[in-house]
Amino acid sequence: MSYIEYRGVFKLIDIPNLPRGEKSTGWIDIAGRPDGGQWRLPYLYVTGQSDGPVLVVFAGVHGDEYEGVEAIPRVYASLDPSLLKGTLFAIPVCNVPAYETITRSSPVDHLNLARVFPGNAEGSITERIAQRLTDDVLAHADFFVDLHSGGMGYDIPTLVGYIHQDTPLGQKSFDGARAFGAPVLWGHPSLAPGRSLSAAVDHGVPCVYTEAAGGGFARADDVDCFYEGVLNVAKWMGMIEGDPAPRSMTHHLVGDGNMDEATLAPVAGYFRAEVELLDEVEAGQRIGTIRDLFGNTLKEICAGTDGVVIMLRRMHNVRVGDGLAHVTKPAS
Ligand SMILES: [Zn+2]
Repeated sequence: MSYIEYRGVFKLIDIPNLPRGEKSTGWIDIAGRPDGGQWRLPYLYVTGQSDGPVLVVFAGVHGDEYEGVEAIPRVYASLDPSLLKGTLFAIPVCNVPAYETITRSSPVDHLNLARVFPGNAEGSITERIAQRLTDDVLAHADFFVDLHSGGMGYDIPTLVGYIHQDTPLGQKSFDGARAFGAPVLWGHPSLAPGRSLSAAVDHGVPCVYTEAAGGGFARADDVDCFYEGVLNVAKWMGMIEGDPAPRSMTHHLVGDGNMDEATLAPVAGYFRAEVELLDEVEAGQRIGTIRDLFGNTLKEICAGTDGVVIMLRRMHNVRVGDGLAHVTKPAS
């Protein structure tokens, strides 16, 4: 059984039965630390006076992505329990050890939290975080939003991603993404395992996720977009008054969202991209070059397919197998 601590009082994490009409912040104990302390997850929730849907929002699944970390407390501050139907339950930093070290993956067990869902209650710290997030939080959601960005390593346009499937769950994911309203809408016909979204889908929970420029900080406009986006979803779900006011969409794209399958560096060196985000490219077109420290070209990197550039590596130097770029397709 899992407990949350609120002002020194421990309460069950029992999202369907939280007291109505309150706002609360606190910590969820996950596992002990060698120094006698605890690894703990921060939470914020707002329960409306009246029953209604449960909207779950995560940020900081990767420890170097900060837009959602800043957007979630703004959403929390803006909600009035007397005007809310249902429950907002949010975790502003999911991979707390990685947040501490400004890294994508955990410095403790070196695992990427976005590859280990639904987790393991007997596993290492990252697997335990995933298990608690899945069983105690995601399993109770009616809709789920996971706020990511490019972090330190990648440059990605501000986008909302959805499950592009002709199913009731896919339709809700699409409708939620349209309500969220980011400049780029990116649909995925399938989800790779291990993601928070795949755990949500296993529980029948429709969901969306975001990306943004990242870069080791949060651009104010991306924080605004995510803040407005979560409130737009709450309006679309009927949790608060008003109609969603999504930002206008510049691109609707569809393709595999698995950045592990991006164009990978075949040799080590440093990478100079020769295209911009959202450029249209043709299969075989050179999109960048890897050089050595004497300026020699080691490898010209070419697009593997026609499409639109959705991700570029931001870091200067590359090791063999690092992701360099990702190209996806316009929606037909
Ligand atoms: Zn991420």
